[in-house]
Amino acid sequence: MAKIAFIGLGNMGGPMARNLVKAGHAVAVFDLSKAAVEALVADGATAAASPAEAAKAAEVVVSMLPAGAHVKSVYASEGGVIDSIAKGGLLIDCSTIDVATAREVIAVADKAGVDMVDAPVSGGVGGAAAGTLTFMVGGSDTAFERAKPFLQAMGKTIVHAGGPGNGQAAKICNNMLLGISMIGTCEAFALAEKLGLDAQKLFDISSTASGQCWSLTSYCPVPGPVPTSPANRDYAPGFATAMMLKDLKLAQEAASKAGAAIPLGNQAASLYALFDAAGKGGVDFSGIINMLRGKM
Ligand code: NAD
Repeated sequence: MAKIAFIGLGNMGGPMARNLVKAGHAVAVFDLSKAAVEALVADGATAAASPAEAAKAAEVVVSMLPAGAHVKSVYASEGGVIDSIAKGGLLIDCSTIDVATAREVIAVADKAGVDMVDAPVSGGVGGAAAGTLTFMVGGSDTAFERAKPFLQAMGKTIVHAGGPGNGQAAKICNNMLLGISMIGTCEAFALAEKLGLDAQKLFDISSTASGQCWSLTSYCPVPGPVPTSPANRDYAPGFATAMMLKDLKLAQEAASKAGAAIPLGNQAASLYALFDAAGKGGVDFSGIINMLRGKM
């Protein structure tokens, strides 16, 4: 069993750290929130006074932080995790951040002789608690193989997406596609309503025809056809609009740096920004159908 430092114990990081404790690892935790640290200590972790203190005693550091700036400061600032962990250590950042920062921080780790992967997740808070997350991992073959057993303690599907930053690249490409396909699906249902076509009929036809997609068949934005979808519980998330907007902005940032054209990704980001600005950041992202209907 390994000595692990876990940094960032929020909605996702808390249950992920708990699963590492359950797997028998010695887990030292740090978060800016004392309450989050105390909750993990009650479940068998030990408290560390700073990311550096946690890293000094650790073989592996795992983090789940809000954005790129937090990841850069925790790992690559002077006296941060990379300066503090012993040579030969392993770093696993599971946060969803911009591709450029992920690559920059992994390069700093590489220079210091420390293996690092970016390993963003899909599966949400439920998947974090159940240990069924999907990890999209970027990094060298060696770093991936070393990280795999720890990721398996927190998730079910572990995919090596390629070199440094490619985990983040996979996550934002997938979520941009999801944002676009959800808006397309919502538009189809909103148009069907105006044309007097029953929602269930549209579902029955499109789910077996060429309009078929995950936003329709697993996460249908109108109540009825898919009983588990958030539309059946007044759009309680699920996957919140603010999170979708964050991922679309990361896709825009990456596309702009890489010179890729994403006209529909840009349009999806604008529509989710409008929905978010209307106070709907906490509503499931499929709830955008109400904005398209003009009913908010
Ligand atoms: P959260 O806001 O609940 O948790 C973030 C935690 O990081 C907080 O407890 C905060 O105190 C802590 N933190 C911030 N700066 C810190 C620092 N410098 N040192 C130590 N701790 C610090 O967020 P979350 O929902 O757990 O999301 C975390 C990451 O996971 C984000 O990048 C998010 O995009 C990604 N993600 C979230 C979900 C989801 O459904 N919530 C799904 C997939 C991916």
